[in-house]
Amino acid sequence: MSSLEIAIRFASLFGAAAFVLGLHFMNSPATARRGNQLSAAGMFVAIVGALVGVSSGQDGAQMNSTRWTVLIVGSLIGGGYGLWAARTVKMTAMPELVSLFNAVGGGAAALIAITDYHLNAYQPAGTATATVLDIVIGGVTFSGSLLAAAKLRGRFSDPISFPGARFVSALVALAAVGGSVWIVAGAHNDFVLLAVVIAAAMFGILMVLPIGGADMPVVISLLNAFTGTAVAMAGFVLGSVILVVAGALVGASGSILTKLMADAMNRSVLNIIAGGFGTGTVGVDAPTGGGLVRSIAVDDAALQMAYAQKVIIVPGYGLAAAQAQHECRELGEVLESLGIEVSYAIHPVAGRMPGHMNVLLAEANVPYDQLKEMDEVNSEFERTDVALVVGANDVTNPAARRPGNVVSGMPILDVDKAKSIIVIKRSMASGYAGIDNELYTDPKTSMLFTDAKKGLAALVSAVKTVVG
Ligand code: NDP
Repeated sequence: MSSLEIAIRFASLFGAAAFVLGLHFMNSPATARRGNQLSAAGMFVAIVGALVGVSSGQDGAQMNSTRWTVLIVGSLIGGGYGLWAARTVKMTAMPELVSLFNAVGGGAAALIAITDYHLNAYQPAGTATATVLDIVIGGVTFSGSLLAAAKLRGRFSDPISFPGARFVSALVALAAVGGSVWIVAGAHNDFVLLAVVIAAAMFGILMVLPIGGADMPVVISLLNAFTGTAVAMAGFVLGSVILVVAGALVGASGSILTKLMADAMNRSVLNIIAGGFGTGTVGVDAPTGGGLVRSIAVDDAALQMAYAQKVIIVPGYGLAAAQAQHECRELGEVLESLGIEVSYAIHPVAGRMPGHMNVLLAEANVPYDQLKEMDEVNSEFERTDVALVVGANDVTNPAARRPGNVVSGMPILDVDKAKSIIVIKRSMASGYAGIDNELYTDPKTSMLFTDAKKGLAALVSAVKTVVG
């Protein structure tokens, strides 16, 4: 083995070790940033190693000026756009961006397998198996993630179903599996491959179309796991260890997250893949009874909070939309300085991506020990004087305890058990799931109709005024 080859293998090894360590650092918000930096450094070294390998003709790579041009221009456009998008994205649009990155990852992995199949007249059964798995999983991820990004942006966010949808899904899945078996059995036919690609892409769309409300977070995390698995398969096709390692890490961590999210949401992953079968029923919710809505002035809300002993703040998507995390932390600090016990209730799917609220509040330096997960905090609401809900809607909706609506079965934060509830939002508009929230007509609830950032800032100064 030449010294260049050894150096390239070391670059791969460094990359793989950096990914594993980086992932480990992401165990805690305190070290997560370092974890990201280490993984990025590992990726950089791995890419440089791959480029050196390609330019020196390792693994039979035959480069010419056209291929170099395509490689460099492609990397500049893709890398440049990725950098620009990541730096300029608004926090509220982050979930869509992650979904688009998933689509690009899955699509790129599938393209690798398609090209390899097209260029090689013969593939041994092992490589052919990796090829079809890559194409099927990558294809499903590509189309499914694009649709998920559109849903997160608010387009087609309702569950969409049509008569016979499940039968069509089964047919499409059968076509993808049939074509794949044929290819693994040795058939070399670009039309069969095309049929598998189309079937996989159709399955991705059919899988995500009927998803809405409480099932959406699970499917997003599942598509993330698919991206990793497709990339690992692309690694097998190309014989690239670093791709296999990176893909396997994403696939495994994404799968673990999917299982955790599905358990937390009381959903079954298998049923979600099969087209929302048996999950949250798509239908019209029972009327909420049109109860009375009470609004409250900032001063009255501040008075209630200033004389409370225990306050739980419940952040939701509206907090992220308003970028009100700093004002939220400031209010918590002011209340704490008055000797009030303050904690933050974190629902696993609050916001628009897994961990959204943790990231947001960590960014504002809210102490980690004040962030309480749903299971831990729910028993505390009964002895809470004021639950302050900031831009959270679906995750507090008692309708989830009843069957027959899009959030049915989703565990919620038991905000309605608090002695008094104050909700900051701008109107009576519904949340992501698109249904009314009975919490707002609860006799214990008062609505502070304003933007979260403005409302929290006003509360901070009103509490300070109340206590002199
Ligand atoms: P919701 O989407 O249910 O509600 C957010 C509320 O915030 C809205 O009712 C809105 O009311 C209010 N709001 C918006 N902007 C502002 C603002 N500037 N100031 C104050 N309030 C504002 O959020 P939740 O966090 O409660 O629930 C998350 C939902 O998203 C769940 O249905 C979940 O399934 C879904 N989801 C979650 C994902 C995840 O991974 N976390 C992924 C995909 C979907 P108004 O307009 O009246 O102000």
